[in-house]
Amino acid sequence: MADDQQFIAYMQAFEKSTEHLGSCPACQKGDPCRIGEPIHADFEAKQDAWTKKVGR
Ligand SMILES: [Zn+2]
Repeated sequence: MADDQQFIAYMQAFEKSTEHLGSCPACQKGDPCRIGEPIHADFEAKQDAWTKKVGR
């Protein structure tokens, strides 16, 4: 995957996760709901991958 595409996917996952968090008290408390769990997991996976790619 090209860097740009990976970054865009990461940002989209971040937006989805943040958007869900804003409207979900359970996820805000660190107890992800069934809807939020895969959204946050997806964001964390993409964040990990991106951090490993650019991080040093
Ligand atoms: Zn939630």
